[in-house]
Amino acid sequence: MTRDDLDSLSSEVERKFGKPDDTGIAVVVTCPECGKSGVIVVDAGAFAERGDGTCNYPVEGGIVCDHAFMAYIDAHFKAR
Ligand SMILES: [Zn+2]
Repeated sequence: MTRDDLDSLSSEVERKFGKPDDTGIAVVVTCPECGKSGVIVVDAGAFAERGDGTCNYPVEGGIVCDHAFMAYIDAHFKAR
């Protein structure tokens, strides 16, 4: 297998499955204002940066409900 073969193979994998960096994690969050629940997709890289596996993720208004709030997400990708 040549170098070109490897390159075309890996770009084919990226087309089908997306780049590893693009992996988003779906997390169910609940709005503290009105109690509505919804699913947000969190960038996996946001967790790596903190180092402890947790993340305060800003949820913009209009995604779950009309409110904007911070979702605290733990290492098991559960919102608290
Ligand atoms: Zn709300």
